[in-house]
Amino acid sequence: MPIKSVTVRVPAKVNLQLSVGPRESDGYHQLVTVFQAISIFDEVTVKIGEQASGINLTVSGDQVHGVPTDASNLVVKAAELIANKFEIDIDVSIDIKKSIPVAGGMAGGSADAAAAIVAIDELYSLDMTREEMHSIASQLGSDVPFLLSGGTAIGQGRGDQLTAALSRGTYHWVLALSSVGLSTPAVYSECDRLRQGLDISEPQISDALMQALLTADPSNVGKLLVNDLQPAACSLRPALRLILDVGQEYGALGAIVSGSGPTVAFLVSDEEHGLDLAVALSASGVVGSVTRAFGPVHGAKVIESH
Ligand code: ATP
Repeated sequence: MPIKSVTVRVPAKVNLQLSVGPRESDGYHQLVTVFQAISIFDEVTVKIGEQASGINLTVSGDQVHGVPTDASNLVVKAAELIANKFEIDIDVSIDIKKSIPVAGGMAGGSADAAAAIVAIDELYSLDMTREEMHSIASQLGSDVPFLLSGGTAIGQGRGDQLTAALSRGTYHWVLALSSVGLSTPAVYSECDRLRQGLDISEPQISDALMQALLTADPSNVGKLLVNDLQPAACSLRPALRLILDVGQEYGALGAIVSGSGPTVAFLVSDEEHGLDLAVALSASGVVGSVTRAFGPVHGAKVIESH
């Protein structure tokens, strides 16, 4: 019997390193980043047969605010790219069950796009190779290829040229979420503004971070977390500085704005430490809401198919 419904689970990410090169003439920046996939998941369900033609998109779950349900949603764009490439009609209903904060610097939209690629591949028995999936993913956004594979990886170029990073152990995170997101392009523009007149060198992989990941040493990893977009995110949202300070005061091994923010990620030594820090952050009154996660975890993966 042909498959009628596929559900794919896909994680969020944090950047352990996000080094941003000078602004290029096309407005983009060369990046060197180290991604870690963490255990906050969206689920994307794609169903065939309930829909006469086209794509019907719904969004459910606890993070629905701000998610477009029209053709600008990255899952619709993913379906359109695949339909063009394979010259097929894709008539489906798609539901995104959203737990990844929207516009939170955790690549939620990119994650959903990666999930849609994997789900449509399974539903239409396309048997795409990893390279074909990667090629579609990189047309949708520079974080999308990473969310296909997950784990820990180095991203170069726009962030989409991936190499697996050798990482041992499990890392525990506490995440301070904001109810209002930050726009990634606005954060890059602010970064350019703050850097005006400065000589910015080409970004390099942090060998020290690679070594700390290899030796499963969270306290060293904590000290080596770096995000070149952090000053810009804090400039646009000064309250982030207070949140970073509270986490450090309560013994986080490292504190960093995630990607373009405004989520702040704190690395802690274990689950118990995470619980203590989560309580302290909630009690501080400077944080909207707090959640905990661990990484690395697997990328987009089929969890149901029938
Ligand atoms: P990144 O870290 O990749 O820069 P982000 O995590 O800060 O991104 P997203 O949650 O991916 O931000 O959303 C950014 C914008 O993308 C949203 O404000 C929304 O307009 C649009 N968008 C398109 N598709 C989706 C989707 N499936 N989920 C969430 N937002 C989406």
